[in-house]
Amino acid sequence: MLLNEQIDELWERQLREWQLVRDNYAALDGLHTREVSIPTKESLQDSRIVLQYNPKRLRSSAANIDDDSIKARPCFLCSENQPHEQETVVWDGRYKIQVNPYPIFSRHLTISALEHTPQRINGRIADMMQLAKELPRYVVFYNGPQSGASAPDHAHFQAGLCNELPICNELFNASTSLFDANSQGIFGVITELGRPVFYIETSSLEFGEQWFNTLLNALPIKAGHAEPLINVLCWCDGGSWCIAVFPRRKHRPACYGTDEDHFVISPASVDMGGLWAIAREEDFINLTLHDITIIYLDVCMSPQDVEAISENLRQYYYSKR
Ligand SMILES: [Zn+2]
Repeated sequence: MLLNEQIDELWERQLREWQLVRDNYAALDGLHTREVSIPTKESLQDSRIVLQYNPKRLRSSAANIDDDSIKARPCFLCSENQPHEQETVVWDGRYKIQVNPYPIFSRHLTISALEHTPQRINGRIADMMQLAKELPRYVVFYNGPQSGASAPDHAHFQAGLCNELPICNELFNASTSLFDANSQGIFGVITELGRPVFYIETSSLEFGEQWFNTLLNALPIKAGHAEPLINVLCWCDGGSWCIAVFPRRKHRPACYGTDEDHFVISPASVDMGGLWAIAREEDFINLTLHDITIIYLDVCMSPQDVEAISENLRQYYYSKR
């Protein structure tokens, strides 16, 4: 049976047999949302940001992810600590795919390594691409261990529906500064959407992997960190892969907190993609386009650093020709 069909079956079974999942996905339908748009200079369309008031996400946006807190808690991705209702589809003998019981998307999956091993992207982009190909309606996403992963000690991706994540419809039309373009694909950077994004579009798994790894090597790694601060989105559209890599400078914005004028918001891949799941009602009501712009500027890599890395990548490809 195709993976897609196995997931559809898993979906129906979990919805039928697991009350928590049934309730939480039913609640998702009734959540309040509102939209703002980041104006772009060169694209035909502005960049949409959908705000979703989602109180169940407080466990994620306010999670303690320091080393001591992580060591002290049972890992919620390891099978022995999961609810007995949680079922699994094993993929490629290395990952288990499960229904995420605390959804942002109307179909939201967690895809975790079978073994308890640290969250690292190195060597896993081909897995993301293959998963995206086998799950055609889904966008597969990765949060780095210091850029939004709530289980930095257990390797995992998540997946949601492409048509619920605004940026999946925006990158094709955005103005891309190219580093390389040939018959197999393009690689460049898009800076006009309010948050910088390195973008690969390719029909070749090898080229996608190669370009991604070159980018990964070009990004800085902070002292004490195992990899660059990044969020990654990967989806497959009509036989071509789209990979969006958001370089970050930090996880939580300066305005993170419960004081007045502060927000309990910890942006990760989905927020970078233009869907902000907001756990506190006052944040949902108060957040303005200006706040969103400031938060993106604060947590994303600076325009100067993005330009310096872009220049290195341009020269790298020029030297290889
Ligand atoms: Zn684990």
